[in-house]
Amino acid sequence: MSCRFDLAHLRELVEAARAGGYRFAFFDSTPRPGDLLLRHDVDLSLEAALAMAELEAELDAPATYFLMTRSEFYNLDSPSGDAAIERLRRLGHRVGLHAVYPDSARDARFDPVLAWHNPDPDYVTAPVEGLVNAMQPGFFDPDHYRSDSNQRWRHGCPHEGLAGHEFDWLQLLIHPEIWVYPGETMRETMLAMLDAERGLRLEQLEADRIDLS
Ligand SMILES: [Zn+2]
Ligand SMILES: [Zn+2]
Repeated sequence: MSCRFDLAHLRELVEAARAGGYRFAFFDSTPRPGDLLLRHDVDLSLEAALAMAELEAELDAPATYFLMTRSEFYNLDSPSGDAAIERLRRLGHRVGLHAVYPDSARDARFDPVLAWHNPDPDYVTAPVEGLVNAMQPGFFDPDHYRSDSNQRWRHGCPHEGLAGHEFDWLQLLIHPEIWVYPGETMRETMLAMLDAERGLRLEQLEADRIDLS
C-alpha cells in the first residue's frame, strides 16, 4: 500500500480502522478502548474540509472538524462559512473550535471542544475553562496520537497499526488541505490549492455582480 496523502489512502485508512475493529468516536467523553477520534484541523480551506467530509460520510466515518474564526485564509462569518458548517453537521460530523491562543471564545456554532492552531508547548496540553482541549490529558498522549503535519507522519502512517489493532485507542489528526489537493511536496500541494481557489474566486466575483466580460 502506498501511503500517499490523497483521498484514496484516506479511504484505505478508514477501511483499516474498520478491519481493526475501531469505532468512530468524538471529543465528548474521554476515549475508551477501541475508540478512533478522527480529528481534522481546518487551517486553510473549507472546500478541502467539505470534500473530505463527503467521502467520510459515504464511508460512515464521522469526524470532528475544528474550524477557525480567526483564519487568514477563510472567513467563517460568510455565506460559504455558514454553508460549510451546515453541511458538515448534516453529514453527521462534529464541529469544534480551531482557536488561536489565547482566544478560546466559543459560540453556538461549535461543540464544547477546542484545538489550538500552531500551539506552543507551554499551553498545548493545558486544560481550558469550559471546553475540552483535544490535547489535554485523557484525550491525548503520545502513544495514542498520530498527526500528518506538513505531509510527514512523525511515527509513520498508522494504517497497519489500525488494521492490526495495535493502538488501544487513537486520536488521528489529518489536515484536509494536504489530502484533497494533489502534489508530491507541500509546495506542490499548496500551489494546487491556490490554482483551485483562483477558479472559486472567479465564481465568487461573478456572484458578487462583478463584470468579468
Ligand atoms: Zn498508510
Ligand atoms: Zn491548525
